[in-house]
Amino acid sequence: MPVGTQGTVKAVPQDTLESLGAQIILGNTYHLYLRPGHEAIRRMGGLHRFISWPHGLLTDSGGFQVFSLNELRKVTDDGVRFRSHLDGSSHFFTPEHAIDVQIALGADICMAFDECTEYPADRPRAEESMRLTMAWARRSLDHFRAHSHEVPWFGPEVCCMQCFGIVQGGMYTDLRRQCAERLVEMDFDGYAIGGLSVGEPRELTLEMIAETLPLLPKDKPRYVMGVGYPDEIEQYARMGVDMMDCVLPTRAARHGLLFTSEGRLNIKNKQFAEDQGPLDPLCDCMVCRRYSRAYLRHLMQSSEALSGTLNTIHNLAFYLGIMRRVRDSLQSESTAPVLDR
Ligand SMILES: [Zn+2]
Repeated sequence: MPVGTQGTVKAVPQDTLESLGAQIILGNTYHLYLRPGHEAIRRMGGLHRFISWPHGLLTDSGGFQVFSLNELRKVTDDGVRFRSHLDGSSHFFTPEHAIDVQIALGADICMAFDECTEYPADRPRAEESMRLTMAWARRSLDHFRAHSHEVPWFGPEVCCMQCFGIVQGGMYTDLRRQCAERLVEMDFDGYAIGGLSVGEPRELTLEMIAETLPLLPKDKPRYVMGVGYPDEIEQYARMGVDMMDCVLPTRAARHGLLFTSEGRLNIKNKQFAEDQGPLDPLCDCMVCRRYSRAYLRHLMQSSEALSGTLNTIHNLAFYLGIMRRVRDSLQSESTAPVLDR
């Protein structure tokens, strides 16, 4: 899922996302709540209509952004008080309020309010944080079930919004297990593994996913939040992860870091100054078909707006291409005749 923090996948128009084959994008509850405000978006018919995106849309719970505010937040059993990074104003998010905001935005999938455990966290801290996440998951789901019909687009002919629970537990496999089992009992529409890619070594990320994934029902979407590099997303998808989101392809693109079939490259490097070849000779995206590395470097060096757009289009094409290939190969594996092994 490309990340569209402010209701836009930065620098890329919606029709381009469609032509790249993006099926679902992510919006950030925290940012949209502060600006333009969830009630304003509700009055405009919900996020789909407001941003003109008639496809899949997921909103996070705001928990991760609030967690990122550090000194600007205070957590109690009831919820989190935080200060806006925009104007310093004070806000209080409870699980119920986080769900109300997401219902007003009216995406297809909303996320239970959780506390993203920091890394490193000692065991008592991870345990306490997981306890909070489980209590908030219960409250989020109860509130969601009572109010999900209040989405701006609710009608008899459209299927309803879904709510996913988030597994926390720090880097402790038994806490992850406990959290996953409790969430599965609550019977969410899908399950996410959160609190990863928060600074831990990659082997630990992999271990937590490998331990947690088998505990989550196979017939419901399983989502790993906030990952990753191209080789990571391929590896996790092959392990059975159905959904992932990451700002990496779009954020890195705006800084000139591009992912290609030949590895990563920094388009700002002088070696590309007169390189007339395409960014990635094996990529058939609209950028690689038309522009040279030299031109992309020139745009970046000149801080032209088009630079961010073209770089982002290529990185998204590269990421979405990986997922398409994984899907195709899983599809052919599942339909291929079973041969003697
Ligand atoms: Zn390309």
